[in-house]
Amino acid sequence: MELSVFFAGTAGSAPSARRGLPALLVRRGADRILFDCGEGTQRQLVRSVGLADLHKVFVTHLHADHWLGLPGMLKSFELRDRERPLAVYGPPGIAALMKAMRIIYGRLSFPFEVIELAPGNAVAGDEYAIHPFTVAHRGPAYGYALVEAPRPGRFDAELAERLGVAPGPDFGRLQRGEVVAGVRPEQVIGPTRESRKIVISGDTSPCETLAVAADRADLLVHEATFAQDERDRARQTGHSTARQAAEIAAAADVRMLALTHVSARYAGGELRDEARAVFAATEVPRDFDTIEVPFVERGAPELLRWDPQRVPPDSQHAPA
Ligand SMILES: [Zn+2]
Ligand SMILES: [Zn+2]
Repeated sequence: MELSVFFAGTAGSAPSARRGLPALLVRRGADRILFDCGEGTQRQLVRSVGLADLHKVFVTHLHADHWLGLPGMLKSFELRDRERPLAVYGPPGIAALMKAMRIIYGRLSFPFEVIELAPGNAVAGDEYAIHPFTVAHRGPAYGYALVEAPRPGRFDAELAERLGVAPGPDFGRLQRGEVVAGVRPEQVIGPTRESRKIVISGDTSPCETLAVAADRADLLVHEATFAQDERDRARQTGHSTARQAAEIAAAADVRMLALTHVSARYAGGELRDEARAVFAATEVPRDFDTIEVPFVERGAPELLRWDPQRVPPDSQHAPA
């Protein structure tokens, strides 16, 4: 089951020539889930992997750089006769905001709902859930943790057969926890295997709830609006420095840290170097880069730089 994060926009506050406003596309199997939708997000997606029929959009908070792309995107879905339902989730205030925006996107022909989440209100997916948690920004603001359901242990078919269980329906019964021909499931099924977790900070100052949510995450996508020499400004504006993000990553013992929400004053390399001094497994993705998150036994998360020659996986969704 593929699990990856596509960085559709990696700027903070204002776009730069190289970086669009915040948007992350999480791809898990056939699911396409967007986290934040800054102005220009649909254009960023159309230019790269295509504008997929997203079915869930999670907004971290109500600052305009994180949602202003939504009304236009809804309009595009409407124009291409979308039928699939779409839900937008966010902190308190998102419902009133989207209601006010209806003056722009009008009536939609596809089922559309806006859901305000309280911290701890998990949104269930197919064998995973997305958990909002409060972060330390200005006004209500969430980070999100995507947590997969635990994976069952490996089934040793050879051993089961040697113990006298015939392949076929009896294998299924064993895997569902039944005793078959005197063979107990735990004799032929290994321990539960670790599933994957991706944590997205949204905008935040260094934050204890986030450090807890990110505990041993496979990937922590953390904002790093500033470098450490601007830490006073970071504190005043409710943001983090690259070094602070790295300290959280180290404390939470994550497998990879990806810095985003980069102020236009930085190219990215200086933030990466500052963070790597504290936490080595740090990347600063550029727009359109992807981080693939394999199961732990298949290796470490990997940053794949955008290659325009590559066939975009969702390009068939691009409007004609
Ligand atoms: Zn922001
Ligand atoms: Zn903000």
